[in-house]
Amino acid sequence: MRLIGAHVSAAGGPHKAVERAAAIGCNCAQVFSGSPRSWRRKPIEELDIDKVARAREQHTVSPLVTHALYLINLASENQDLIDNSMQALSYDLAFDAKIGGAGVVVHLGSHQGRGWDTVQELVLRRVATLVEQAPPEASFLIENSAGQQGKLSTDLAEIRWMLDQLASPQVGWCFDTCHAFAAGYALGKPNGKTENGRGYAVDEIDRLGLWEELRCVHVNDSRDPFASGRDRHANINDGLIPPDDLVYFLNLQQIEKLPLILEVPGIDNDGPDAENVRRLRAHLEEG
Ligand SMILES: [Zn+2]
Ligand SMILES: [Zn+2]
Repeated sequence: MRLIGAHVSAAGGPHKAVERAAAIGCNCAQVFSGSPRSWRRKPIEELDIDKVARAREQHTVSPLVTHALYLINLASENQDLIDNSMQALSYDLAFDAKIGGAGVVVHLGSHQGRGWDTVQELVLRRVATLVEQAPPEASFLIENSAGQQGKLSTDLAEIRWMLDQLASPQVGWCFDTCHAFAAGYALGKPNGKTENGRGYAVDEIDRLGLWEELRCVHVNDSRDPFASGRDRHANINDGLIPPDDLVYFLNLQQIEKLPLILEVPGIDNDGPDAENVRRLRAHLEEG
């Protein structure tokens, strides 16, 4: 059975998120550890872990993935932003361990025009510190980006480099279909040369040897064209990713055991819903 999940609100506590995911037909889920608009978090000791465990058992929702704040930038030149980012990520790693989660998905941030070469050592040191100080059950998952405004990890080779340098079982990565498409990675079956892109995702992940460290797939359609460098998610089948290409990628044997997490706007703009779960499931049955 495939793992189909969605990013759901954890308002009221992570056990509520489990209920929300089950209500739209999911068997796994992704959450924020608190408000996505604020750095503030309630003390980790106040989390009611028994409630989460009971909800997960009752609804058979597993795994639970945590998504870090979008405010984070580990390549920033602003010390306050760095301090907040480090603190937020260290909280999320503790949260992941405490809820028995499957990792914290992180956007590393943006080099803001300085280039990857300039910031890579700094970013690496910061991630290494976080992972060293994290509970051993926690994991740090680097997400690929669409390429907007100097975002890090747009090129999958950067993720390969980070994983090699960190060389820890506590570090892996997450592949987002919208981001990959917008960054110029074609999702379909390799067939000649991709137009102004970076190649076929399947080929590039093979070439970089990245399947083994892949822990999670974000399944989103894209409102913007191939290689546009823009990050706007669309509902499944309502965006510009050719449906056959998405079907091909989602049915690759290399990802058949990984959680597939929807982060789509929803038909009513209310977040992932039962209709998107149905569309995703139809793609899986097709393949
Ligand atoms: Zn994503
Ligand atoms: Zn995105």
